[in-house]
Amino acid sequence: MPERPKTVPEETDLAMMRRALLAAEEAAGRGEVPVGAVVARGEEVLAVAANEREMTGDPTAHAELLAIREAANALGGWRLSGCTLYATLEPCPMCAGAAHAARLDRLVYAAPDPKAGYAGTLHDTPRDLRLNHTFAVQHGLLEKEAATLLRSFFKDRRKRPANPPEPPHVPG
Ligand SMILES: [Zn+2]
Repeated sequence: MPERPKTVPEETDLAMMRRALLAAEEAAGRGEVPVGAVVARGEEVLAVAANEREMTGDPTAHAELLAIREAANALGGWRLSGCTLYATLEPCPMCAGAAHAARLDRLVYAAPDPKAGYAGTLHDTPRDLRLNHTFAVQHGLLEKEAATLLRSFFKDRRKRPANPPEPPHVPG
């Protein structure tokens, strides 16, 4: 695992991941699977996003992808070199691909995703040397917090039936 670049202090990484976790928590409140992401250039936050799949009905509305888009808008160009993507969950194939396309410098994620993780678990897009761009990956930062948030979201959802029973009809 590559070392954290000296240009980004550990406190910055922690602060960015906390911001991503906060976005994930807010998403859970809206019934979205709680995943949050931040794109930052050093200390400068360029974008904060959370999963919006349910709200938008868009299968590509993942936190990381939305944050990458917003950061590119903020910088006025698609190339996000010098930037770090922080994600509360290991990016899926699509988002790891988007990070590659954006030429990000670095990815930091909290919890691994054994079912879709493409940044070291099922595949390792960031470090696939056949690709024309590779980038550093660091993981495990606030992993417990991110995993707990996801677990409690799914536990809550299982408790609730998918189609809540209609309230009893009270004749007026
Ligand atoms: Zn994704």
